Amino acid sequence: MADYDVDLFVIGGGSGGVRAARIAAGHGAKVMVAEEYRMGGTCVIRGCVPKKLFVIGSHVHQEIEDAAGFGWTIPQVSFDWPTLVANKDKEIARLEAAYTTNVEKSGAHIAKTRAVFEDAHTLRLATGETVKANYVLIATGGAPNHGPEIPGIEHVISSNEAFHLAELPRRIVIQGGGYIALEFAGIFAGFGSDVTVIYRGDNILRGFDEDVREHVRSEMEKRGITILTGCTVTKVDRHGKEFTTHLSNGSSLASEKVMFAIGRHPNVANLGLEKAGVAINPNNGGIAVDAWSKSSVSNIYAIGDVTHRHNLTPVAIREGHAFADTVFGKRPVQVDHSNIPTAVFSQPEVGMVGLTEAEARAQFSHVDIYKTSFRPIKATMSGRDTRVLMKLVVDGVSDRVLGCHIVGDCAAETIQAVAIAVKMKATKADFDATFALHPTAAEELVTMRTPTVRYVRQAAVAP
Ligand code: NDP
Repeated sequence: MADYDVDLFVIGGGSGGVRAARIAAGHGAKVMVAEEYRMGGTCVIRGCVPKKLFVIGSHVHQEIEDAAGFGWTIPQVSFDWPTLVANKDKEIARLEAAYTTNVEKSGAHIAKTRAVFEDAHTLRLATGETVKANYVLIATGGAPNHGPEIPGIEHVISSNEAFHLAELPRRIVIQGGGYIALEFAGIFAGFGSDVTVIYRGDNILRGFDEDVREHVRSEMEKRGITILTGCTVTKVDRHGKEFTTHLSNGSSLASEKVMFAIGRHPNVANLGLEKAGVAINPNNGGIAVDAWSKSSVSNIYAIGDVTHRHNLTPVAIREGHAFADTVFGKRPVQVDHSNIPTAVFSQPEVGMVGLTEAEARAQFSHVDIYKTSFRPIKATMSGRDTRVLMKLVVDGVSDRVLGCHIVGDCAAETIQAVAIAVKMKATKADFDATFALHPTAAEELVTMRTPTVRYVRQAAVAP
């Protein structure tokens, strides 16, 4: 240690880096965290947290619409976008301060600067200072893909800018069919914007269960969102405050904003990785790591989005914690990446854990599907045209529940609890033995008695 200024140098003050720094400091390590922008990283500053606040705010619109059926007369309502943005900024500033305080309380030191490698043990700060570290953790996260170099790409915003627009766009075009595109489509539509989603494939949410994809699309369309599939944005023209978005199918759309949400890339550029000898994973462009999150250099680790494994905050946190316990806590921990629950905060929400029907059928000889789509109780009086989807994917041999998929309000909250059961390898019989909680939507998960379809090898057998 005598040769080093710190035991651990963490590059990046996001959720994963902060967790690693605090746990390592708790194990007695001398820790420095470098953050060039704001403590909290993507999740707190321009991701999960402000997004969820916007989702909650925009969902109020639906509550207002649904109220009439329950006897409410609500006078003319109005919505003020700048108030929302200002209040969101206040909350993000509070969280940023809490992150800073928590790191400092743990004994770790924060350097508000960019840090790059000089060699495997030496970091150069933007101040010109160098710091010698025994271990280095790269937790620099990711950033939105700016997209193909089409004419007018400079007019296109990403989710980063969407959080700070001066005014709510009356019309917005959003390219992408994944998490961010659908979450912002719901947000803007909820606040009253006219939203068009442009997706290059056949249907949105590629990789999700097919039933989920169809259900979400139909529900979003019912809420007035236009979803155009099988096309891409080829050009964006600006006319003052308006834009014309040209599509590969020859059509064009006018709007006040054009946003791309077409994936994110790991922040690996200009970190001096080559000077340290850190290898990039050729398959995903992230830092190549082993099951311990160790890079190609034995004293350098990487966690979270910069490794481009599962780009989710709780995963980064778990990886950061495991790294700190392994390296500084004398307690080797490998992260088990199986059965990570995930939610898309579209409106309606998607929650899922485990395998899709297609994945299960590819891996298991006997697969039972239990599926229901129903009108939630609230809709009976609100009159809203909406349905909830619940689906269980079960191994027909062991009876184990392999996957659960929900589309509907509270899907994310529900799937968090279901994920415990799936992680514990619960069987369908365990679900059946659980009492229903009436009246809820989630009770359907323990009351679906008969398989909708049974797959035995390649042949589908009706029950
Ligand atoms: P996603 O990977 O979810 O979706 C990207 C979308 O953009 C896909 O529909 C993809 O199409 C499309 N796309 C990619 N490249 C192009 C292109 N060149 N032209 C046109 N369309 C393109 O990425 P997001 O940006 O939505 O989010 C990034 C990641 O951040 C997520 O995958 C997730 O890990 C994380 N995240 C998680 C959230 C949560 O937990 N709720 C919320 C937000 C982000 P195709 O499907 O055909 O490849």
